[in-house]
This record gives sequence, C-alpha cells and structure tokens, in this order.
Amino acid sequence: NVNTIEVKWWIKKFQEKISSEKSYLTDLDQAIGDGDHGHNMARGTAEAVKVLEAKTFTCPGNVLKAVAMTFISKIGGASGPLYGSAFLKISQTLGIEETIKDALFISALREGEKALRQRGKAVLGEKTMIDVWSPVVAELEKANSLNHEKMRATAESCMKATEILEAKKGRAAYLGKRSVGHIDAGAYSSYLLFLSLAETLA
Ligand code: ADP
Ligand code: MG
Ligand code: MG
Repeated sequence: NVNTIEVKWWIKKFQEKISSEKSYLTDLDQAIGDGDHGHNMARGTAEAVKVLEAKTFTCPGNVLKAVAMTFISKIGGASGPLYGSAFLKISQTLGIEETIKDALFISALREGEKALRQRGKAVLGEKTMIDVWSPVVAELEKANSLNHEKMRATAESCMKATEILEAKKGRAAYLGKRSVGHIDAGAYSSYLLFLSLAETLA
C-alpha cells in the first residue's frame, strides 16, 4: 500500500537526488543535447517540494496532481510537459483514495507511462525516458506488487542500457549515430524517480 505521507517522501527524495546529481544531469544533456536538463529538473522539483510543504493534502492523488501542475509550469524544455502529463495521469488514476493498494498504484504508473508515450510519440528503444518507464512498469505488473528491489534494479539497468542506443526522439536524435555512447539524460532522471520510489517503499 501507498499513503499520502509516502508519496510526499517520494517527491522529496526525488528532489534531493536531482539536486545532488544536477551537474551530472547537465553533463549528460550537454553531450548529446543542450545541457539544461539538470537545471530544468532541479528547478521543477524544488518548486514541487515548496508546494507540498505549503499545503495540506488528504490523499496521494491530490499530492501528485499538485506535482504535475508544478512540473508542467516549472520544468520547461521537452521534459516538463512529459513528466507533467505522466504525473497528471497518475494522479487522475489514483483519484481521491486515501490508501492506495499496490495494484491501483501500478495501474496508475502504467497510465502515466501511456500518457508519456502519447505526449512524446516515442516508443521503446529510441533513447528517451520511455526506456526506463516502460520496463519498470512492466516489471511491476509481472511481479503484481510494488517490489522495490525489482523497481530499483530494472530502472538502473535500463538507464545504463540507453548508452548504446541511437537517439530517435528529442534533441539527441539530430546527432544520429553520434548519440551512441552516452546515457540519455531523461532516462537518468527517470532512474532517479524510480530509485526514490523504491527507497520510499523499502
Ligand atoms: P530539452 O530537450 O527541450 O532541452 P530536457 O533537456 O529537459 O529538454 O529533456 C531532455 C530529455 O527529454 C531527453 O533526454 C529525453 O529523455 C526526453 N525526451 C525528449 N524528447 C522525448 C520524446 N519525444 N519522448 C520521450 N522523451 C523525450
Ligand atoms: Mg535539454
Ligand atoms: Mg532545452
């Protein structure tokens, strides 16, 4: 099960990890993009934490709705609307339930992943954040529970696996074959997102 306090911890942890790895995210995006992913994510997650600290929330869905709105308006770049639509869909799927059963949380993550795919029109293997989201959600569906160890391990291996891929979506796609040999920045921030969730649930 997942409750309101836990989703707040999730986002707080995510913000902390993004903040401590901001320059690494910048380096990754600098190599095959425009170098702003660290800045975009640090700003968006810091704003989200501010919003969560300023208000009282009665259910996980409302917490994540506020996060979605903040991500959409504050992250900027390609990743703002992408993370924003994923979180909006997750919050809508969770509704106003106070304690979320694993099965509902997993289906909310699946709906978020679908929203991400619809928004970015990317499929698996195109060197984007989808390459972390899709396999992590599939692994949780297979386990039929929010297995934190599988979540962490899948997110990590799939993030690393983006290094050998050629980018087909986003700015890195302009580089064609020259995008091979670098981890995708959005895959790395998505890894931090699921690592944060795994640690929260552990
Ligand atoms: P921008 O490219 O506008 O500067 P960011 O640097 O914040 O935006 O985010 C770049 C990341 O967004 C990429 O590393 C990739 O993971 C993700 N991304 C870009 N385009 C897409 C897309 N069409 N679908 C899914 N993810 C994408
Ligand atoms: Mg960028
Ligand atoms: Mg940019």
